[in-house]
Amino acid sequence: MEYNSYDYGAFFFVGLILVIIVVAGITSSGQERKKVEKLSQPNSRLKLKDKEMSSLLKELSGWINNCKKCSGNQYYIEEANSLQFSLRCSHCNSKKTLKTNEAFHKIEVLESIVSCFNEIIAIMNRDKIIQDYILNIDFNKRNAPINKYVDSLENKYFSYKRLKKSIKYGQDISQLRVFSEGSKLDEALKRLETKKVDGLETKRGKNDLFKPFGSCS
Ligand SMILES: [Zn+2]
Repeated sequence: MEYNSYDYGAFFFVGLILVIIVVAGITSSGQERKKVEKLSQPNSRLKLKDKEMSSLLKELSGWINNCKKCSGNQYYIEEANSLQFSLRCSHCNSKKTLKTNEAFHKIEVLESIVSCFNEIIAIMNRDKIIQDYILNIDFNKRNAPINKYVDSLENKYFSYKRLKKSIKYGQDISQLRVFSEGSKLDEALKRLETKKVDGLETKRGKNDLFKPFGSCS
């Protein structure tokens, strides 16, 4: 069999494409490895923020009691803004609302959680972490370095759904889990009771002060 110059040209072209695909593959996996190395350093901002989120969620636990309906102690954050959180019991789906400005106390940690979450998403978007994670899932590379890294974080920040021809994904605060512990609520209640007692005493003191002189005979 003889090849004419047209065939050689075709071989060359196919070869070139193959080389480009292989080189692109090596470069992208090299880039991914470099990215993961950077992200894994102890002072990596994403790692630090993830740890911060864990401690903020722990603080939030103090403001939540067990579910009234089923006594469950695990919730997810269904909706959140800096003024209000909607929590859902993971067990029975009962809803609970927490406000930054409750009647007798402030739950400032709500605002901190929202801004920490936003910062984490900003880092993930900037470094294309979510996109790469999803791309690897799509190519069945669940053990790729970036996926292992994301799975090693203490909290989850995004979700994905496989559709017929694509994967839908995005940031998702409801991936955060929070346990009820209630100690901060107890403290606030105690403070409120002491205040009430103090208030009564002050009132009595004032009454004493305004007792008219010489009223006793
Ligand atoms: Zn429940």
